[in-house]
Amino acid sequence: MRCKTVKSLIRGAALLVLLALVLSACGGGRKADPDTGEESGEVREEVLFTEKEVALPEYTAEPEPEEEAVRILDGQEKVKGKGDLSLSVRSNLDPKKPMIALTFDDGPSAYTMDIMALLEKYDGRATFFVVGEMLEKKAEELRHMIDKGHEIASHTWSHTNLRKVSKEDGKKAMNSVIVYMKENYGYDVKLCRPPYGASNKTVKEEAAELGIALVIWSVDTLDWSTRNAEATFKAVKKEAKDGAIILCHDIHKPTAESMKKVIPWLHEKGYQLVTVQELLYYKNNGASAGKTYYSVGD
Ligand SMILES: [Zn+2]
Repeated sequence: MRCKTVKSLIRGAALLVLLALVLSACGGGRKADPDTGEESGEVREEVLFTEKEVALPEYTAEPEPEEEAVRILDGQEKVKGKGDLSLSVRSNLDPKKPMIALTFDDGPSAYTMDIMALLEKYDGRATFFVVGEMLEKKAEELRHMIDKGHEIASHTWSHTNLRKVSKEDGKKAMNSVIVYMKENYGYDVKLCRPPYGASNKTVKEEAAELGIALVIWSVDTLDWSTRNAEATFKAVKKEAKDGAIILCHDIHKPTAESMKKVIPWLHEKGYQLVTVQELLYYKNNGASAGKTYYSVGD
């Protein structure tokens, strides 16, 4: 009996040794690669890690473009008030303090960046009624407008007198800028200023169908005619008041020059320099498609 037990123990030990030898020969343990000296197990782990890394961007990439397309800055809100237009406004403005909307037509141009730099210094925003033909070469300016919270609005593709074209053509002229801004920047245009301020019942119908409001002005600086910085400044000083919409053109150098005085002066007088959308919301409690706005509040 005793002898049999010793024999079976020896047999069991021999089997274990054999098993260990077979396992190491099959590569079950870690084996050094003759070229790199790396152990095969580690190489396999690296491969797995790489696969994971590749998979990650696919997982996070999907929701981002949607968020970017909206482009609401921190501190900006989408609001409606009593009108049917959804307006994008800063939430930190004081509705009890006076507001003025500086507006610039016919650009963007070589002077638009200078005007925006001045506005930024005084935490001011403006509205740019852009002409479609200028847009292709002014991507930097457009991007800057969006990033800094200025408003971009339609001034038709080729500065069309909307009173002189058919309803179909008028609608197309206004809408071309809207479509361009949406497709290229994900930006929602809400307003149009008819070139020359030329509007009528048909133009209003066109705007209503496009879901936008029409904006004229309450102060005409006549900068396009005087081409004189001091004259533009005087016009603003004479007519500035709460709720005013001031017409300027950023394609003229003297207009850009005048802003060096206009913007600090308005700021000093306590005016908050706002976009037309902000003015319509805070001083008019909203805006509606197809309506025309000259100024708001009193
Ligand atoms: Zn114009």
